[in-house]
Amino acid sequence: MNDKKQSKDATREVTIAKMSDYYVRFIPDNILTTLKQDEICLIKELDWSGNTPKFICSETVQFADAGQNFEYVKCASCSANITEWWGNAMSLAYSDEHGFTNLEVITPCCDMRVSLHDLDYSLTQGFYKTMIEISPNPSSHLSSEHVANYLKMITKEAWRIIHARY
Ligand SMILES: [Zn+2]
Repeated sequence: MNDKKQSKDATREVTIAKMSDYYVRFIPDNILTTLKQDEICLIKELDWSGNTPKFICSETVQFADAGQNFEYVKCASCSANITEWWGNAMSLAYSDEHGFTNLEVITPCCDMRVSLHDLDYSLTQGFYKTMIEISPNPSSHLSSEHVANYLKMITKEAWRIIHARY
């Protein structure tokens, strides 16, 4: 009698499990930065608290999104909410073959010439050729700020932290 209910519950469980997929992504502030082999070795030496960092290197510029954590994008100059305009600007800047080639845009609110990389994203997002990603083990106590500081120490440049949820 409860077969129908049970299968419905099972479906819901799967959905919940999927929704809770969580990744912490680190990308250099400078989109074109790539890691040298010795830098990769040093980064692997960090105590990742039981998490395995995945190094993602792309020939083309790609976008690291925050998934469901994406709320809005605002103009970095006048703070207007330009989320709707942004979707179209992203499509125009992207091709399957070449990734993102030209990130320069003119904002619709105040005619500012700016890179899509430097808009005010909530939560943080950005573009990369190199990304380090972990799917944090729930029992680990890894501080993403600690990782970002370590990455900065090694590469001598700032890194963004992206908390992505799907
Ligand atoms: Zn503006």
